[in-house]
Amino acid sequence: MGGKRLILMGPPGGGKGTQAKRLQDRYGIVQLSTGDMLRAAVKAGTPLGKQAKAVMDAGKLVSDDIMVGLIAERIAAPDAVRGFILDGFPRPVPQAQALDKLLKDKGITLDGVIEVAVPDAKLIERITGRFTCAKCGEGYHDKFKQPKKAGVCDMCGGTEFIRRADDKAETVVARLKAYHDQTAPLLPHYKAQGLLREIDGDREMDVVTSDLESVLGT
Ligand code: AMP
Repeated sequence: MGGKRLILMGPPGGGKGTQAKRLQDRYGIVQLSTGDMLRAAVKAGTPLGKQAKAVMDAGKLVSDDIMVGLIAERIAAPDAVRGFILDGFPRPVPQAQALDKLLKDKGITLDGVIEVAVPDAKLIERITGRFTCAKCGEGYHDKFKQPKKAGVCDMCGGTEFIRRADDKAETVVARLKAYHDQTAPLLPHYKAQGLLREIDGDREMDVVTSDLESVLGT
């Protein structure tokens, strides 16, 4: 896969965000995470954040108009010129159709869509145990990846950690349902365009990263 205009797909908790961050550093392309954009808006208390919060807390999807608007703006920004990884967008089919049109209008072609596949049974445990450093965003997990020194971030020494409001077990069930009902139908959409590659995400993070790198090339 030559160029680096990608969509990373997969269920919530499957590791898209972690892998997208690594690819961003490795290839000098930008991670465009709609979830991160919405969380930033919620934190800043903007009108968008106020509107999105209840929807996110319920594990449901924010409206297509809002999401397409956000992504259109980010894809056009200077830092996305060298390439981008869409993480968490598109979600339902109309977003994929809007993205097809948006890219066509801008003369941009996608190089690939990679599905990081993880079975449902693993996702709840993966999601409900995760937390991040409030200062640098490094990700941890109660069971799989505790900081080396309890309460201190390995990367930056920060001592404050945060858990996502929507990572509670009840909300995770709704998020998984939204994924299966509304987002999984995109897989055939991209398969028909010859863009889809599947990677087994149910392995050590580093192994998944090297698989991604071998799909993407240098
Ligand atoms: P994520 O960080 O990708 O798991 O997204 C967190 C939450 O933000 C989702 O459960 C949705 O409520 C909302 N969200 C993120 N991206 C989208 C999108 N493309 N379309 C609709 N809602 C989204």
